[in-house]
Amino acid sequence: MELKNNNIVVVGLARTGASVARFLCRSGAKVTVSDSKGRETLAKFVDALQGLPIEFEFGRHGEETFRSADLIVVSPGVPMDIAPLKLAASCGIPIISEIELAASFIDAPLAAITGTNGKTTTTTLAGEIFTGCGFSTFVGGNIGKPLIDLVTSGERVQRVVAEISSFQLEGIVNFHPKVAVLLNLTEDHLDRYSSFQEYIDAKLRIFANQTSEDFAVLNIDDPLVAGCSGSTAARIVPMSRLSVLEEGIFCRDNVITFKMDGRVERFPTEAFKLRGVHNIDNCMAALATALLMGCDAAKARAVVENFTGLPHRMELVSTVNGVPYYNDSKGTNVGSVVKSLESFPGNIILIAGGKDKGGEYTPLAGLVKERVKALVLLGEAKDRIRSALGHLTETVTVGSLEEAVREAQRLARPGDVVLFSPACSSYDMFRNYEERGDCFAAAVRALEERDR
Ligand code: ADP
Repeated sequence: MELKNNNIVVVGLARTGASVARFLCRSGAKVTVSDSKGRETLAKFVDALQGLPIEFEFGRHGEETFRSADLIVVSPGVPMDIAPLKLAASCGIPIISEIELAASFIDAPLAAITGTNGKTTTTTLAGEIFTGCGFSTFVGGNIGKPLIDLVTSGERVQRVVAEISSFQLEGIVNFHPKVAVLLNLTEDHLDRYSSFQEYIDAKLRIFANQTSEDFAVLNIDDPLVAGCSGSTAARIVPMSRLSVLEEGIFCRDNVITFKMDGRVERFPTEAFKLRGVHNIDNCMAALATALLMGCDAAKARAVVENFTGLPHRMELVSTVNGVPYYNDSKGTNVGSVVKSLESFPGNIILIAGGKDKGGEYTPLAGLVKERVKALVLLGEAKDRIRSALGHLTETVTVGSLEEAVREAQRLARPGDVVLFSPACSSYDMFRNYEERGDCFAAAVRALEERDR
């Protein structure tokens, strides 16, 4: 990719945009950063780029800026269909995402993980397996560091594991993972896509450039994912918790078995610290990725057995008066809440609600009826959730997360479980899901203090 002396516009200056701008500058490009937000909001990123010859355009996207670009790199938070990008596309100007730019400078074999839920857990675990098996590994993409940071650092690694969002996949041209994983497909981000199909089509682009030399790990228990096998030229590695497979990776009677070309590896799951059916999927996906890319099974097994999961995902905060309180603040869509509810047999006090993303809550109905003793609802979405599910179980609405926790305590009896799995994003009341999860944990600790 020719960068030197080319006019390159970076659209969106947050963490990724700043990293991209820095890389492009170092590569000798003439860089303009354009962001619809004001300079004050982005001060921290502007400061980080101080001293570099970058033009900034804040509070607008200038037509001329876009029209005169040789290349446009779009940050993950920026929708691909905004007017200035449409204009640039109509002028034939190439428009790419950061992963496309970064991957074109990366030689190491790359595994790409996508899906509606489980990406971060699977990506992190796969990264830990590679490292535990002795490969120098970069883990990034949608989590932690942008991929471009690897290129800028000049570091040579043996493996790359990238968490990839649908937004990033919209802007790929040649992005080509050795192993691509599709974990599941359920409704999400309908505030940004005009239909579920459009979101699925974006996800499927992960396979666009794969060849028969590559692998596509597909969770065939998810009918939509199973239906995607025609979307890749790669060798399909099916993954299932429900069926025994001749080839692929599956879980039966608490043993994960990987079977490919005569190679058979077994991983008893009883020794795993991770809990929840969805984490079996994540472990299978990470193991398949690692084994397909050269990892030793015994070493991989030791890593998986010691992996305790990530904060804000089904994290046990504390047990107060015989009731465990789980923080699943990262449960930001209905699909993930389904899995979180499936992880307990019943007696759940579910705290949910937040910023509505426009999807349906009715897929939760069966589990709510069967397993949820009471629903405590908050945030912008509380009325929509109440109309969809409120008739199925005792339901209360509250004004804050602290109040929700106190209400849950009032409703819970020893043997019950309090689960905070919002099915919504956090932006109505919090900066992000981490802040929201921390707030939940603090409210639980306040209960503990009070009862001490
Ligand atoms: P992502 O990065 O895709 O958002 P995470 O690993 O951060 O995924 O998990 C997000 C939420 O989704 C968690 O709250 C968890 O309960 C749920 N989850 C995790 N893995 C899966 C999976 N394989 N299938 C469905 N839900 C999952």
